[in-house]
Amino acid sequence: MKYLKLLRLFAVISFNLNAQNNSKLENNQQENAIYVIKDVNVIPMTKENKVIEKATIVIKENKIHSINKTIPENSIVIDGKDKWLIPGLIDMHVHNLASSSPWVIYHTKGPLVNYDTQNLMTLYIANGVTTVFELGARPEHIGQRNEITRGNVIGPRMALAKVIGGNKSNFIAKNPSDGRNAVRFAKEEGYEFIKVYTWLNEETFKAVIDEADKQNMKVVGHIPVAFKKKQAKDFFVPHFGLIAHAEELSKQTDDYSYEKAQEFARLAKENNTWLIPNLTNMLSISQQAKSLQNIKNLQGFKYVHPLMQSKWLTSNGYYGASEKLIEYYTNLYDFHFLIVKAFKEAGVPMVAGTDAGISGVIWGFSLHNELKLLVEAGLTNEEALASATRLGAEWLEIDDKIGTIETGKFADLILLNNNPLANISNTLKIAGVFVNGKWINKNKTDIMLSEIENWNNINKEKYDWKELLNSLKN
Ligand SMILES: [Zn+2]
Repeated sequence: MKYLKLLRLFAVISFNLNAQNNSKLENNQQENAIYVIKDVNVIPMTKENKVIEKATIVIKENKIHSINKTIPENSIVIDGKDKWLIPGLIDMHVHNLASSSPWVIYHTKGPLVNYDTQNLMTLYIANGVTTVFELGARPEHIGQRNEITRGNVIGPRMALAKVIGGNKSNFIAKNPSDGRNAVRFAKEEGYEFIKVYTWLNEETFKAVIDEADKQNMKVVGHIPVAFKKKQAKDFFVPHFGLIAHAEELSKQTDDYSYEKAQEFARLAKENNTWLIPNLTNMLSISQQAKSLQNIKNLQGFKYVHPLMQSKWLTSNGYYGASEKLIEYYTNLYDFHFLIVKAFKEAGVPMVAGTDAGISGVIWGFSLHNELKLLVEAGLTNEEALASATRLGAEWLEIDDKIGTIETGKFADLILLNNNPLANISNTLKIAGVFVNGKWINKNKTDIMLSEIENWNNINKEKYDWKELLNSLKN
């Protein structure tokens, strides 16, 4: 099982033999290149995490070939003097835009909206996010992953979780037997993980998780509303491996005390359930509720696809909330800080995830925000970094391939101008990124970003969320 999973995530990049255009040839040359980063301070993010000062790192055939060994001939030298090298970042909770026809029955007419995969993936790469966990996976995402694997698109590795819910989700499972079948279908269709969702009833929730265990698929997800009036120990069922956001816990209680947070943490520890705190999303919700200007002010907003810009600004589900609701969001946010504190104290692993793709949470950019908030909530800079590198890789069971800087691992790396162990905001000071052994410096990512901005400006008029919805009614 594990082997299959890896095969899907790490299928070797094959070259298009018919590649005629220059960019393809340039790509090929790059793939064959051997790189050496000289004099760089390496933050390996292993458990010991001993910084290796002024190291020489050789990158060959998309892997970390050696650390402080001889430099092969003909290698391309990157000056790492006074710079810092960390593993590529992992966002453990994303929703990627993918071309589709969600409201159109006849798919042969083509997708309703086409998204350029590169325009989305650039946002991750420019931010050093080299692996993402898609928590609403559809066949289109498998297509995106193939585009990346083929080398047609520069993008992150993608792990895919299929949603199984009660009503209102793409796999409707109303009873345990439906639930078990849905898990088997998901496996058959090539998804690697199961995401349990809000509307499952108690019996079906348990059956889905049990079946996933039998099928060797890990489970991430929501805690169904069916548990609202029950005790917390009821939803911590064996093999429920990862909670998609701290909100799932706070929704289950009106008691926002530290003792309650400690109870959740103790149960999570006993059940080996990890947590994605997802502070970014909660903060973003309360900011949107207050003012839409807070969306326009988001770093990276101009790179968001115009249809989503339009949706977030004209059909925002949070904006205009009552004072009472805003106060509720604020209380939840404060409680989430207590949850992070309690989980840290109990030694429950937390992984960084942002819900990128939902209103006001921007792919790639949001992960740096999450790291900052995790530190505000009480993690050390190193713990925050671990949550977005080694620990994410461990949960996805690909920690033998990525997540730390060690010889033999895939070269997913970020070269930083300043030390993130001294200040977590330094993860934003990116000099360049290695994506599966391919070097993309800041200059290049800046060009890629400005291409998106230009495209957005030219095409803005064509995308109006409300108009699109209206056109579907006719
Ligand atoms: Zn989500």
